[in-house]
Amino acid sequence: MNKKPVSKQKVVGRFAPSPSGRMHLGNVYTALAAWLCAKSAGGKFLLRIEDLDPVRCPRANADQIISDLEWLGITWDNSDIPYQSERTSIYESFFQKLRDLQLVYPCFCSRAQLHVADAPHASDGRVVYAGTCRRLTPEEVQEKSRTRQPAARLILPDEDITFCDGQYGLQQFNLSHDWGDIIIRRSDGVFAYQLAVTADDGLMGVTQVVRGSDLLSSSAPQIYLFRILGFQVPEYLHLPMLITEDGVRLAKRDKAADMGFLRQQLTGPEPLIGYIAWLLGQIRKPEPLKATDLLPLFDQKKIPGHDLVVPGDYWEYLRKR
Ligand code: GLU
Repeated sequence: MNKKPVSKQKVVGRFAPSPSGRMHLGNVYTALAAWLCAKSAGGKFLLRIEDLDPVRCPRANADQIISDLEWLGITWDNSDIPYQSERTSIYESFFQKLRDLQLVYPCFCSRAQLHVADAPHASDGRVVYAGTCRRLTPEEVQEKSRTRQPAARLILPDEDITFCDGQYGLQQFNLSHDWGDIIIRRSDGVFAYQLAVTADDGLMGVTQVVRGSDLLSSSAPQIYLFRILGFQVPEYLHLPMLITEDGVRLAKRDKAADMGFLRQQLTGPEPLIGYIAWLLGQIRKPEPLKATDLLPLFDQKKIPGHDLVVPGDYWEYLRKR
């Protein structure tokens, strides 16, 4: 019997930075890992700029990220880079769809009201919204609208979302207990990350999401939204975080991790790429390499399963190369 060849779906990966500042070691690590996962599988790699907040994300920062990626040799396959700041009408249509499904309600709570001492918290410290404004009557909504512009929240049901993460294995989150109703549009009209990221990953045909493990639990509301909005759910791989020797997350303020500083000091990207490849468990000791040198070597299974310490003197290694 003739068997039809099984058509294997082509991997479509992405890097979706928020240009709230210059890239740092952590962003480069995420970008390189996501690029390697997609490209070593013969897939496509897309770039998207997540500049939803126009105040925090000026265009100059995005230009800088693009220049830094070019310098690093991390390439992308989309000639038109989507900027979230230019896609408001797209998010509006998805927002409308959710409204038509009666899944959205206005929320008038102030920051202070949300952070009261007895507010329920998720395990990572995030406040889980108690649903206060979900119970408002139409008259109360009308009354409150006179003095305050509301945010919009998405109703998240008491439902478990289960998925298998490429790095952390089986994951399960309960939408109402771990998240509570999430804001999908802020009171100033700016659409929120969870809605925009889902709409964009869906529309761009993304099949593989590789990003930091700080976003692991965000996959749950995103999977829920993918399903409601009629998109295929991508596969996920969350990366261990980069931490300092004190066990805290590597931050923008660590000067030696800043791309501006690194590009001033290094003549080329190879020592940095090699260092990250070593962090990612791909080579035994850090040695200068080009991003493309890593493609034939890359093995996702070698990525360590724990957070990765970047020693304070890591810069010494780079400088010597
Ligand atoms: N824009 C987000 C960030 O820079 C990443 C979003 C994502 O990868 O889903 O942290």
